[in-house]
Amino acid sequence: MPFSDLGLSDKVVSAVSAAGYTEPTPIQAQAIPRVLEKRDLIGIAQTGTGKTAAFVLPMLTLLETGRARARMPRTLILEPTRELAAQVEENFNKYGTNQRLSVALIIGGVSFGDQDAKITRGVDVLIATPGRLLDHFERGKLLLNGIEILVIDEADRMLDMGFMPDIERICKLTPFTRQTLFFSATMPPEIRRVTEQFLSDPVQIEVAKAATTATTITQNLMRSGGDPEAKRETLRKLIRAAEGMKNAIVFCNRKRDVAVVHKSLVKHGFNAGALHGDMDQASRTRTLDAFRANELTVLVASDVAARGLDIPDVSHVFNFDVPHHADDYVHRIGRTGRAGRSGWSITIVSSQDAKSVSAIEKLIGRSIPYLEAIEAIAAPPEERAVDDRAERPRREGRGERGRRSPQTAESAPPASVPARAEAAPRPERVARVPRTEPERTKPADPTHERQRMPRDRDQASLPGDDAGHMPAFLLRMKRTVTVKKN
Ligand code: ADP
Ligand code: MG
Repeated sequence: MPFSDLGLSDKVVSAVSAAGYTEPTPIQAQAIPRVLEKRDLIGIAQTGTGKTAAFVLPMLTLLETGRARARMPRTLILEPTRELAAQVEENFNKYGTNQRLSVALIIGGVSFGDQDAKITRGVDVLIATPGRLLDHFERGKLLLNGIEILVIDEADRMLDMGFMPDIERICKLTPFTRQTLFFSATMPPEIRRVTEQFLSDPVQIEVAKAATTATTITQNLMRSGGDPEAKRETLRKLIRAAEGMKNAIVFCNRKRDVAVVHKSLVKHGFNAGALHGDMDQASRTRTLDAFRANELTVLVASDVAARGLDIPDVSHVFNFDVPHHADDYVHRIGRTGRAGRSGWSITIVSSQDAKSVSAIEKLIGRSIPYLEAIEAIAAPPEERAVDDRAERPRREGRGERGRRSPQTAESAPPASVPARAEAAPRPERVARVPRTEPERTKPADPTHERQRMPRDRDQASLPGDDAGHMPAFLLRMKRTVTVKKN
């Protein structure tokens, strides 16, 4: 079904096709017409299924009539984190390109002044984190009684982060007559209760897990010695051997390790950045932008820092540590294989991790196969010729070069990621309270010269010169890098 069949305005449909989307995702196809009917809505779909456009596109259409008044925003979108709020703003800018809408971002870590000025002029769309929104409200500069549409996005993360009381308060501050849209990956009872209280006769749309991202992720384990040095070496070897790798996120369990692994990768010449909860907003944004722009190839991150971020098109996820909480595993691997693309997740496992691994396997309802050797991570050359937008065909003949086939997407049971898995990540708020890891690590500095991405092999042995058969980062290497042996 094309976007033009959903009832969206011509301006929005043309912005969508200019942006390159060809078909709505299932949650978009089902939610958009109902939002346009001005119904309250509960949309439940896994991370990476395109929930953002499911509300942004119809909101843009509805906003075409009417105009903003000073201090009285017309619509309000609540997001749990600054990064997610910024991503939603990008969506409004991208799909609202044919419209003259004013959009304001109200997030912490940024001065009040500019935000105030914008609100005073009048905004159509206010995108906010709950705490900061209430700060503005309490300062008396913001009126919420003109809100026509209220969106509570990523509700399960709001819950995890302790934002539910703020959400309830904000709901009460907005007009009873508003349209309310609720999006979440899961619907635990606490969230259900809030929807019952604040939504009126909502349509509920739940997208089956089967049709979503989980089916496109190849999952493997890789054995390693347990001490950090051995694990770092295993990681380096994996990254070097991963020929089909466009970019990767490396997850560590602890902030401290994020810093150590990041430093070590940089020392070994990898083009790596780090993302963890202690970084100030400016460095987080810088790092994330650099990673999105493919200026960084590897992003080392903690669970808290990476949760819910829309980092498009990550080809590989490496778990430097097996997560202690099985649900974190599901969140981590959800960073790859998004929106129908295929991805690969490799978890480094030592003898101490048996318990955590079996908890994960129990949660996802299947066992995760081991890679027999590091080299098994190299994909056959055909797989490297991946156009960014094209669906990446998975060839059954992966093992054709004598390598063992990793478990491919097709062999994964569709419901491999149960809803519960998204339900209980550890709260970021709690994580910010001083804990046992007081040290602050140096934020990544993506302004420095692009670093080298050495390989064990010579450039000469890289796949031929046919640009069409080379991933972007390899091409970049060829142009800018002389290989240094470590
Ligand atoms: P969610 O909020 O459900 O986790 P997002 O809205 O962040 O998911 O979308 C995940 C990714 O899918 C983004 O990179 C987004 O650009 C992409 N995406 C969304 N809708 C489509 C579509 N219709 N076609 C292709 N890609 C899409
Ligand atoms: Mg989202």
